[in-house]
Amino acid sequence: MGKKQTPGYIRLYKSGELAKRVELALQGLTKCRVCPWNCDVNRLEGETKVCRTGRYARVASYFAHFGEEDCLRGWRGSGTIFFSWCNLRCVFCQNYDISQEEAGIEAGPRRLAGMMLELQEQGCHNINWVTPEHVVPQILEALPLAIEGGLRLPIVYNTSAFDSMESLHLMEGIVDIYMPDFKYWTKDKAKRFLKMPRYPEVAKAALKEMFRQVGDLSFDANGLATRGVLVRHLVMPGELEETRQIMQFLAKEISPDTYVNIMGQYYPSGKVSSEKYEQINRRVTSREMETAYLFAQLAGLHRFDERKLLWN
Ligand code: SF4
Repeated sequence: MGKKQTPGYIRLYKSGELAKRVELALQGLTKCRVCPWNCDVNRLEGETKVCRTGRYARVASYFAHFGEEDCLRGWRGSGTIFFSWCNLRCVFCQNYDISQEEAGIEAGPRRLAGMMLELQEQGCHNINWVTPEHVVPQILEALPLAIEGGLRLPIVYNTSAFDSMESLHLMEGIVDIYMPDFKYWTKDKAKRFLKMPRYPEVAKAALKEMFRQVGDLSFDANGLATRGVLVRHLVMPGELEETRQIMQFLAKEISPDTYVNIMGQYYPSGKVSSEKYEQINRRVTSREMETAYLFAQLAGLHRFDERKLLWN
């Protein structure tokens, strides 16, 4: 294997740029516009609004995750840190207890840095921040402490794509792999199922910015992802037209070489059992999954998450 590259965040740490970003990000908490809700609350004083997170991040769990894509989990797992709460209110959330209930523990910067280092110690291939959209300043605050403790792993930013441009700019040069989950294409559906009609326009802009920063996904000799954008799309029952539009967008406006994980594991969860969401109260069929792949191929995409690592 070739020599490992110095992570971008270490370069930013050494140049003093990371310290500037931490300061800027923490200042931003006084009138919070960390995500596109623009709540304007003073989180430094502990005020909360949509994401229910104040001064410090909450962590639901952290562990070596073997359920992620092969190129992230490898053979020693992806070092996943699940942040509690969320800035979206998806009615079908597959992690409802984490996103909508007060799961886990509050973690200040030292604790958060310690988690990253523990995961590195366990041999994980990367640090995978899950649902980071509302805690970008808190993550940045922890990062210098983790670097001082010896953090060297690539960073994965695992997001709904409801991210502000400011937060993505703060993460430039720090995140190696962006993993946005593009959920819905139309305003109406986003309003109905995510409770956020602006989601599609925000997600489109976020994906373009992520791609500008890191480009198409690339791998090392062992098949581990090293840098780039990995797009996830959870296929929803009866919503193939949404899938078709998203695949066209990826092929035409991001890159025909976009690496995509078309996911078929949706199951009714969260608030879906109520009559109001009857339409999505079932799993997707294999026919629907075939159609989703067909739409992706017809759009011009050809890099799907089927790649097997060398040890398989
Ligand atoms: S991060 Fe939370 S408080 Fe800040 S704008 Fe988003 S939802 Fe509102």
